Amino acid sequence: MVIPGANPRDLRLRRSRCHRKDRLGRTWGDALRWLFETTSVDDDDPWLSQEIRDRQFRACTELIPATVVVISLLAIAQAWYFYSVSPLWLLVLSVGVTLACEFDSARHYFASKRRIHPITDRDLQRIAVRVVIIGIALFSPHIYWGATFTPDELLVLVAAVAAMIGAGGFVMAPVASAGIGWTVATSVVAAISLANLNRPVLWFVLGLLVVYCVMICMMVASASATLKARARAEVRAERQRDLVGLLLKDFEGSSRDWLWETDERGALRRSPERFSEAFGTSIATLDGESLVDKLRGTFAAAGLPADEAHDFLQLRLSGRHAFRDHVVPLIIDRETHWWSLSAKPLLDQQSRHVGWRGVGTDVTLAKRQEREMNWLANFDSLTALANRHQFQTFLDTLFSRKDLDTSAVLCIIDLDNFKNANDSLGHQVGDALLRMIAERLRSTVLPGEMLARLGGDEYALVIPGTVSAAAAEIRGNALLNRLREPFHVNESRVEVSASLGIAIAPDHASTADELFRAADTALYAAKESGRDTLEVFSPQMYRRAQHRLNTQHELVRALERGEFELHYQPQIEVKTLRVVGFEALLRWRKPNGQLVSPMEFIPIAEDSGLIVPIGDWVIDRACRDLKHWPEQTFVAVNLSAMQFASRSLIETVHAGVLMSGIDASRLEFEITESSFIHDSTRARETLQTLRAMGHRIALDDFGSGYSSLAYLRSFSIDKLKMDRAFTVGLEHDANGSAGAIVRAIIDLAGALNLRTVAEGVESASQLEALRTIGCDDVQGFLFSRPLPASAIDEFLHSWKSDNPYGGVQDVLI
Ligand code: C2E
Ligand code: CA
Ligand code: CA
Repeated sequence: MVIPGANPRDLRLRRSRCHRKDRLGRTWGDALRWLFETTSVDDDDPWLSQEIRDRQFRACTELIPATVVVISLLAIAQAWYFYSVSPLWLLVLSVGVTLACEFDSARHYFASKRRIHPITDRDLQRIAVRVVIIGIALFSPHIYWGATFTPDELLVLVAAVAAMIGAGGFVMAPVASAGIGWTVATSVVAAISLANLNRPVLWFVLGLLVVYCVMICMMVASASATLKARARAEVRAERQRDLVGLLLKDFEGSSRDWLWETDERGALRRSPERFSEAFGTSIATLDGESLVDKLRGTFAAAGLPADEAHDFLQLRLSGRHAFRDHVVPLIIDRETHWWSLSAKPLLDQQSRHVGWRGVGTDVTLAKRQEREMNWLANFDSLTALANRHQFQTFLDTLFSRKDLDTSAVLCIIDLDNFKNANDSLGHQVGDALLRMIAERLRSTVLPGEMLARLGGDEYALVIPGTVSAAAAEIRGNALLNRLREPFHVNESRVEVSASLGIAIAPDHASTADELFRAADTALYAAKESGRDTLEVFSPQMYRRAQHRLNTQHELVRALERGEFELHYQPQIEVKTLRVVGFEALLRWRKPNGQLVSPMEFIPIAEDSGLIVPIGDWVIDRACRDLKHWPEQTFVAVNLSAMQFASRSLIETVHAGVLMSGIDASRLEFEITESSFIHDSTRARETLQTLRAMGHRIALDDFGSGYSSLAYLRSFSIDKLKMDRAFTVGLEHDANGSAGAIVRAIIDLAGALNLRTVAEGVESASQLEALRTIGCDDVQGFLFSRPLPASAIDEFLHSWKSDNPYGGVQDVLI
């Protein structure tokens, strides 16, 4: 089946015909619309059309004030000139209409100036209509010219008419309809006037007029098109600029970064708001100013020399290479800020360098944090002195020159009783004290020296250069003297003393580490020799220190391997000569069988804190051993001050008693006065707890320590264990001063209801003297040396069976 018209050829034909018709229709329609300004440029972009209309209108009306005057005068002058040839009505009409139209133009012009309203196509059409009317009105009197004018006059007139047609057309060219309207209207009236001339050249001149009119119209059309095209390009460019501006604003508003631009010399262009805020000037005044000068200016205003980062930036801007993250400082409100700038060179089409465009970021926060971190890495935040890290770096740098021996003195200062002050006065006062000490020490430091706080209550002073041991000692003593002067913290007077260790390079050390170790060793020696003093390093100290260190390691192993054992020394009641108890005394049996005295290792264990686990072992062992011995005997365990202060003591004691099932009253503790010196409140609590648990407490080495009587009064104890020195004294001076002192002690103990024990009883005469004075119990080599636990049973047995008085009775009788 064939559908009529469905033939492809037919279809093509029909389509092409339609198409041609369409195109033609559209072309003519477009041309007319274009001519009558019903569509200015882009139907699909009303905003662009509007902008172009505005420009057309402005271009046309710019000359209105001048043309109104000129045309009005021309109309009047012409009326006067044609007065004799043209009918009056026509002249009046010509002048009237022209003036009316000009008046309307002027009114329209001023109205459009006053209020900004969008120019519509009607406005443009109105211009065209007005121009056509003016053209007809102005040229109409010419219709009557031919009658009387001489050929010369006619020549002038024709020239004037041609000029007016052309000039008017071009003036109106921005609005094509107006320009063409004027040209056609005036040409038609001119043609009628020429026809009226009735001369032989008429047809020739008419032909010329037509050609002239067509040419002018074409030129007007072309000028109008050019103007529109230019306007369109300008509008689009402007729009693009605005769009970029908007995007940039949006970018700046939403991010920390901003864009900046300079010319090739580094003078700012289109500065971002950030610059005007930072430099305190308006954007308008910033443009054209040198970016680097502005940055430097902030430093100059603050009275500071420019930073070298500014010079570097200048250097970069005078080159042609892109750069990234160039950080420059600037001062805003007397505070330093930092910007990180990155930029690329801008090149024109001929690859000429025309400027820079880049991104800036405010990196002040990061920079401040970095500085803070740097500061914290190198300074002590409490005292603002150099910290251990900076101190170490300083020492390392001093010793970094390999070519010659470094000469320097290192003093390490450690406060003696700071912990005490800190505990009793509170940490705030402690901190204030540490700051004041730092200030005092700082006031003695000379240029080139380095004072640091190494941590806690330890300070160090490095004195570079050659200093004799004597001079170093004088300097050290001056430091100690400064610290001995009392401090006033929060209205309380605090006294401080310190120990000081001095080491000298190259005498004592050839590296930074060696020097530090030497000074530390000397400090240790100063502490050992009674504190509040200084020691200059000597190699023996080092050997001692080395020994201590080795012993510490060995002690740890000894505890793990069970190399400790307890020996027990009996205590005898003087009146009955009964064995009442034993003092547990620690021994260390080394793998080689050698038995080490506690005097050798206990101070080291105390120093390193190892005394706590060792002491726990002692308590546990003593409880286990005691379980096997007669009910009425006790064991006295020695407690170090550190053990006494440790929180685990009570638990250990409790566990020991519980596990062995002994009566708590059978486990005694011997403490020394040093237990009360630090943190006496805690000591009192521990003491009370132990006594409440049923344990007895003996005050060991009584009379050898500090303010014994004060402690006796304020701490509740059960026994006084007189120092061995008193027993020794009794040997030859029982009736003299030694006897008197012992008597006084025993009287005092009696008054306080305390039991008395004398230790180190080696001779019968000592025993006799003690018995006479009234001492309760005795302990010493006279009765027995400390015995291993395994020997106790035998000892007790022989004490009872062989001789009820253990052979002592004979001595006594
Ligand atoms: P200490 O508590 O004063 O112990 C008495 C010391 O005198 C013991 O020395 C003992 O062997 C010795 N001794 C006893 N009788 C005589 C005597 O007649 N003449 C002489 N010259 N000395 C006598 P050791 O066992 O060497 O203990 C020394 C110190 O070690 C003890 O002095 C005590 O402070 C400490 N110690 C011993 N064991 C322990 C312990 O388990 N823990 C703690 N923290 N310290 C202990
Ligand atoms: Ca003891
Ligand atoms: Ca003792």
